[in-house]
Amino acid sequence: MSATIEQAEAPHQTFDTLLVLDFGSQYSHLITRCLRGLSLYSEMLPCTTKLSELSFKPKGIILSGGPYSVYDADAPHADPAFFDLGVPILGVCYGMQEIAWRLSKENVARSNEREYGQANIMSQRHNSPVDRLFEGLEDAMQVWMSHGDKLNQLPEGFCTIATTQNSPFAGIAHKEQPIFGIQFHPEVTHTPRGKDLLRNFAVRICGAKANWSMSNFCDQEITRIRNLVGPKAQVIGAVSGGVDSTVAAKLLKEAIGSRFHAVLVDNGVMRMNECQQVKQTLAEHLGISLTVVDASQRFLDGLKGTEDPEKKRKFIGNTFIDIFEEEALKIEKKAENTPNAGKVEWFLQGTLYPDVIESISFKGPSQTIKTHHNVGGLPQRMIDGQGLKLIEPLRELFKDEVRQLGRQLGVHEDLVMRHPFPGPGIAIRIIGEVTPDRVRIARQADHIFIGMIREAGLYNEISQAYAGLDTNKAVGVMGDQRQEGYIIILRAVRTTDFMTAEAYPFSMDFLMNVSRRIVNEVDGVALVTYNVTSKPPSTIELQ
Ligand code: GLN
Repeated sequence: MSATIEQAEAPHQTFDTLLVLDFGSQYSHLITRCLRGLSLYSEMLPCTTKLSELSFKPKGIILSGGPYSVYDADAPHADPAFFDLGVPILGVCYGMQEIAWRLSKENVARSNEREYGQANIMSQRHNSPVDRLFEGLEDAMQVWMSHGDKLNQLPEGFCTIATTQNSPFAGIAHKEQPIFGIQFHPEVTHTPRGKDLLRNFAVRICGAKANWSMSNFCDQEITRIRNLVGPKAQVIGAVSGGVDSTVAAKLLKEAIGSRFHAVLVDNGVMRMNECQQVKQTLAEHLGISLTVVDASQRFLDGLKGTEDPEKKRKFIGNTFIDIFEEEALKIEKKAENTPNAGKVEWFLQGTLYPDVIESISFKGPSQTIKTHHNVGGLPQRMIDGQGLKLIEPLRELFKDEVRQLGRQLGVHEDLVMRHPFPGPGIAIRIIGEVTPDRVRIARQADHIFIGMIREAGLYNEISQAYAGLDTNKAVGVMGDQRQEGYIIILRAVRTTDFMTAEAYPFSMDFLMNVSRRIVNEVDGVALVTYNVTSKPPSTIELQ
């Protein structure tokens, strides 16, 4: 019953949906991302998906790029049934080669000249419906290419709609059916008008409505959750003070009121005043039923003597689940004799779409594709052991969409724009042993650094920032006395996807002021450094 409701009201049932079939390109998800940014709803599925497995009819299909050559023996191919569905199809790079190859194996071959990087295309006008892909765009456009194969010849029934110097078939269109192929990647920012081309495909060719908005999604999601959970069941969820868990919690509160229970576990390695702030925001401001468990001593005792970062992570993760389980049972007991009595049947998880994409993206014929479930650090033991069902209201959303949804739900802007914070908290920003004193130092230094970033108006320009702590001590001189103290490692990065990142270019004055304040105000610090290494080769967190 509940599964049917979920199916009936999933976004792809109510919003016109563009389906991206992923052939393994590192940019595939950007197609979905770009369409969403244009208020067009899109979902990505692996290229191995069969039409019969879809529970919705897409308005159009985009075949992504991919690292294979269509003529390779183990190359992935789309289910031919998609071509008989009668909806428009756009092939991007590998996707175009796939369209050509299925019509004749002679159509695609290895090219002598690889094209990688910028190229200039000329689109050709036919004064016919096939022009719609380039409608409103300049005849000459800059695009971004990355291919080693090419179309040898025009597939039967197609005409050329764009060329480059190297590629006589940089864009093709079927003369009668709405089937298009482009050799370049419209989804990357290096193709400046790529967005408009994708909009042309979705709106002008597929006729999709651009109605994907957070206010529409929000209303629909609240109704869906209400139906899914039913009139009696209880839902529990962990909150951390981060934007994802807060927005998910607020959505549940809107849907089922006090039958949703948020649990905040203070693990002793949260940021300064964080526990208090989360309590204020969730319980007082957002009206969510919140249990705060102060387990800081249990965590700090358990961390004693542990230096290995993986061991720290494991310990914190496992202890967290133990405590959470204990609390869940208590909550169920407490509700027993109240009007809210009902079993805790659901577990709320703030999984985001990038986690889903990561788990389903096509990694090639030789690798098994991971399943959709259990992404994003889910305490599987709870689901299995207590028979809980998962509720993941954010699993279709990208981070910026979660932020919009948060605003929609009245979550305060400061929280909506908050930098990500790792589950194991400050523990992985402290190299070496986590002792109460070292937590104090890292916490105070971080508080000063973040405060100064805010005062300088830089917080929203930076994607993530913190002060970490080294194991080594340096010698300093304070008040004419030799003073040994720890080394603080500041980190601030800019990134769009957290996959790659650059250090933020602070002014030297700013850094010197931060250093001065930290050394003066935080007992036990001798010197402050700024980590300028990009990711890769470094990472954003210290450990
Ligand atoms: N592997 C194919 C080629 O090299 C497709 C590349 C792509 O989709 N970017 O042409």
